[in-house]
Amino acid sequence: MKKLGFGFMRLPLINSEDPASIDIETVKKMVDIFMEKGFNYFDTAYPYHKEKSEEALREALVKRYPRDSFIIADKMPTIRVTGTSDYPVLFENQLKRVGVDYFDYYLFHNIWKKSFRETEEYGGFDFIKEKINKGQIKHFGFSFHDTPELLDEVLTKHPEVELVQLQINYLDWESPGVRSRECYETAVKHGKKVIVMEPNKGGSLINIPEEAERLFKAANPNASNASWAMRFAGSLDGVFMVLSGMSKVEQLLDNISFMDDFKPISDEENNIIKQVAQIIEKSLAIGCTKCRYCTDGCPVGIPIPEYISAYNSYILTKNMGNAGMYYRRHAAGKALASECIKCGKCEQNCPQHLKIRNILSEIADTFEIK
Ligand code: SF4
Ligand code: SF4
Repeated sequence: MKKLGFGFMRLPLINSEDPASIDIETVKKMVDIFMEKGFNYFDTAYPYHKEKSEEALREALVKRYPRDSFIIADKMPTIRVTGTSDYPVLFENQLKRVGVDYFDYYLFHNIWKKSFRETEEYGGFDFIKEKINKGQIKHFGFSFHDTPELLDEVLTKHPEVELVQLQINYLDWESPGVRSRECYETAVKHGKKVIVMEPNKGGSLINIPEEAERLFKAANPNASNASWAMRFAGSLDGVFMVLSGMSKVEQLLDNISFMDDFKPISDEENNIIKQVAQIIEKSLAIGCTKCRYCTDGCPVGIPIPEYISAYNSYILTKNMGNAGMYYRRHAAGKALASECIKCGKCEQNCPQHLKIRNILSEIADTFEIK
């Protein structure tokens, strides 16, 4: 199987301010190119694109290609589960939204301390077994954003898990917050297949500092920054799929150009990547991946990732004019950073373990006139 998976979480939009406004005609075009080049793995989830991602997959892929020509991975939204009876309702809804009668891969979405406890308490693992026995799930796993210690505990208790989806990229590899390498090594120790998410860290590894880009270009003038990040993730033993959330045809074509005839990263290239990671680390203010897990439960509706992005832009460029404009644009009609009531719900869902409350205070101090 080719190692590039099409993530349906950053699809092209008609209105860049509205994640639900998926540009379905461009998505169809991208799906056609992807399939024509021999790639066939698609990843979606219940909440992506304000719950429109699964339907987009049905329209762009399922209705237009034979079922046995593609592979679909979908995820149980653990955040929506409040009891045992929610599992069949959500699962049936997903089958309907995607327009299929089985999922090739099915994962619990975002297993962490709390969601793991609840999944066990509500009988989530038994529910999956039942669906596997009925043939509605072919392979089973979970996506994970917590510590390697918890990952070890989950995999020890549930050897039936076949695969783990992990955040792996060269910037997080040794990060004390994400502990990417340790999580990867834990999954491999348990003999699990690994799916990589966020190989570009939500785009942070595409627009990198000039000094870092110069190192990449000196080593290979024709390779994109994305190619270094994707190949880093795909070169790890045990990784069977690297997901990329693609929003432009050009991105798709670039990904295909190096993932088609995949060449693992050499030792020499790995050394360059380490130097680049050090340069980026120094320049990044806040490592937000724009996953939006934080925004759903915010009682005042603060557009957290947009505000962080504006703040990062200010820290990187020191250009208050542009960054301030970006902040004000996102703040229009929404709660300001200073309106955060410090309830902490967002921090519980943040896979990067960001101290969002403190960050919002800094953002308010930076952008808001007192
Ligand atoms: S701490 Fe602030 S930003 Fe986070 S969920 Fe609560 S109100 Fe929203
Ligand atoms: S603050 Fe955390 S949860 Fe929110 S978008 Fe950024 S990384 Fe995701």
